[in-house]
Amino acid sequence: MRVDVVSIFPGYLDALDLSLVGKARRDGVLDLRVHDLRDWTTDRHRTVDDTPFGGGAGMVMRPDVWGRALDDVLGEGGSGRTVLVLPTPSGERLTQRSVEDLATADRLVIACGRYEGIDARVADHYAGAEAPEVREISLGDYVLNGGEVAALVVVEAVARLLPGVVGNPESLVEESHGTGSKGGLLEYPVYTKPAEWAGRPVPDVLLSGHHGKVARWRRDQALERTVRRRPDLIEALEPAELDRGDRAV
Ligand code: SAM
Repeated sequence: MRVDVVSIFPGYLDALDLSLVGKARRDGVLDLRVHDLRDWTTDRHRTVDDTPFGGGAGMVMRPDVWGRALDDVLGEGGSGRTVLVLPTPSGERLTQRSVEDLATADRLVIACGRYEGIDARVADHYAGAEAPEVREISLGDYVLNGGEVAALVVVEAVARLLPGVVGNPESLVEESHGTGSKGGLLEYPVYTKPAEWAGRPVPDVLLSGHHGKVARWRRDQALERTVRRRPDLIEALEPAELDRGDRAV
C-alpha cells in the first residue's frame, strides 16, 4: 500500500520509522511518503494560512496551497482505489470497521490540517470529483492542534492489518473491536509469567492446559468486560452474531 502524508510539520511523522510500521516500510509492504505542504507555497514567507472570511479568531489553511499540493501528490499514484483522508474533529469517528475498510485501499493520502482547519472548499472540491474517495475522519470528540496525530493513528491502525506486518496474524483475530465472528467485543484480560505477582495469581483455568475451557473462559470474560465497560458495543451487536460467536468457542 502507498500512503502519502502532507503536513507543515513533516518531522512529526518520523515516528513511523519505528517498530512494526518502520519494518513494514523497510520490507516494502508500506510505501510511506511524507511531504511538506510549504513546498507548494509561492511566496517568500511560504505562507499556508490566512484570516477567516467573516471574521473570528485564528487562521485558516488556504485552499490554493492545499489544492496544488493534493493535485500533485494524488497525481503521482497509479490506478486503484485512492482515499483522501482529511482528519477533522467534525468527521466520521474512526473505528476498527473504518480502519479495515481503509486497509483495502491501494492508496491513502492524508492531509493534516492546522490552525482552525483547512478551507472547507478543499473537501468539497475533491469529494465532487470522480476520484479520489474523500473521508473526513475524527479520532474522537476532542480537539487536537493538528492532523499529524490522526495521521499517525490511521497509518499505524491500517498498517498492522496489511499482510505480513504483524508476525502472527492470529493475534489480530480476537482483538478488541474486531469485526469477525468473534468480533464486536472488548478483548478478554491477558496474563503472562510469573503465575503469581503481588499476591495475585493468574486465573487457574489458564494454567489448566484445557483449550476448550480456556476458550469458554475468554469468551465469558470478553462478554462480561464489554457489558461492564462498553454496553454500547453489546447493544450494537446483532443477537444472532453474539450467538454465532458463542457457538464458535
Ligand atoms: N476549528 C476546528 C474545529 O473546531 O473543528 C479545529 C481545528 S484543529 C485546532 C486543527 C486540526 O487538527 C484540524 O484541521 C484537524 O486536522 C486536526 N484535528 C483536531 N482534532 C481532531 C480530531 N479529533 N480528529 C482528527 N483530527 C483532528
